[in-house]
Amino acid sequence: MSMINVKKRTHYSDEITPDMDGKKVSLVGWVHEIRDLGGIVFLLLRDREGIIQVTAPSKKVDKELMDKMRKSGKESVIFVEGTVKESSKAPNNVEIIPTNFEIINKSKQPLPLDTTGKVKAELDTRLDARFLDLRKLNVNAIFKIRNKMLNSVRKFFEENGFIEINTPKLVASATEGGTALFPVTYFEREAFLGQSPQLYKQMMMAAGFEKVYEIGPIFRAEEHDTLRHLNEAISIDIEVSFANHEDVMKILENLIVRVIEDLNKSCKKELKILNKKLEVPETPFERITYDEVIEIVNSKGVVLEYGEDLSRAAEKALGEEMDNYYFIIDWPTSIKPFYVMPNEKNPEKCYAFDLMYKDLEISSGAMRIHDHDLLVKRIKEQDLNPESFKYYLDAFKYGMPPHAGWGLGAERFMMALTGVKNIRETILFPRDRRRLTP
Ligand code: ATP
Ligand code: MG
Repeated sequence: MSMINVKKRTHYSDEITPDMDGKKVSLVGWVHEIRDLGGIVFLLLRDREGIIQVTAPSKKVDKELMDKMRKSGKESVIFVEGTVKESSKAPNNVEIIPTNFEIINKSKQPLPLDTTGKVKAELDTRLDARFLDLRKLNVNAIFKIRNKMLNSVRKFFEENGFIEINTPKLVASATEGGTALFPVTYFEREAFLGQSPQLYKQMMMAAGFEKVYEIGPIFRAEEHDTLRHLNEAISIDIEVSFANHEDVMKILENLIVRVIEDLNKSCKKELKILNKKLEVPETPFERITYDEVIEIVNSKGVVLEYGEDLSRAAEKALGEEMDNYYFIIDWPTSIKPFYVMPNEKNPEKCYAFDLMYKDLEISSGAMRIHDHDLLVKRIKEQDLNPESFKYYLDAFKYGMPPHAGWGLGAERFMMALTGVKNIRETILFPRDRRRLTP
């Protein structure tokens, strides 16, 4: 068989329906399962869209073809040509009676991972053989949803007049201080992997772009090994001029609603595979203040003192009370980054917000400081050196409009949308404290 004469399908498995009874079709895909009853061979062919049964009874199918089916082996790549037959006993009430069967590329046996989902495997085993793991329909469904989510996000921004930008991921210094950075060797100097596009997207406000978004990687060297942290994640970031925190919170709410509406239309099959129903949340989302959070959390017996960021225990306690998407507002200025606009009347508090889904933070945002001198003051107050922010600060000297924005973690959002409990399920090849391969 020629290697460059690539066999093509006429249909995906899910396009074949009982009313096509008698029609000739061709399929390509993988051997999902084989059941050999002697006089009849059942083979499940799996492709990107699902599974279809190929049924070969000895009365109708010649022996040579049946033998090829028997010997094909799980997960081998195959080509099947045959006739559609309506059948109440087959999955989806339809099967293929083969007239031609070819093994395009044989799979080695035994497999490092079962792709039917019948044999459970540890996450590490699954991630080591991720290409096989991704063949499972339920794992695959997550990434189809992720695709449609990102699609929907891009459409939303496009329709609302945003300009897509790409900012550098190799940077000279920390964005916000605090968080650990990954150092890299940049010729004879040290550089870092960017933890956020924050400073660059603000500089685009000085450039007069007015509404920008970026969907790109963020790198965080925090040593956390949790179910909701990665060391490389994708952030959906926006920055908007002539806007305050309330304006960008509305954009965030509308985006969440839009994505859920779109997924309910475009991912019916995938949501069903995951057994997930997506309710469209009502807007405006509930807003609770940081002070109220302390009260709720303390009332549940979890210690949280004023001026502390939410611990995991605090998030969990809060999640018992709050059931959907909600904002936490009026944060203490001291625990938010230097670029957040303090409240003019009470500079103790600032115009920052977090968007939560139950006990999970999925986005942080704020109105930003646009006054150069105030920004310098805040940088110093946080024990950072204004010198290392020279180019950023220059952008505030020659006409910087008021602005606000947020960053939404794509994987955290996927956790909220799909209900998976481990963030590693939502990214193809997770990077965490222990894992740098594959
Ligand atoms: P957390 O407190 O949960 O560690 P954070 O407040 O440090 O998050 P931000 O700097 O506010 O995170 O980043 C904005 C968004 O980016 C977060 O709300 C989250 O959705 C996402 N994000 C941040 N860090 C990570 C990470 N390590 N892994 C996955 N997503 C992340
Ligand atoms: Mg945050």
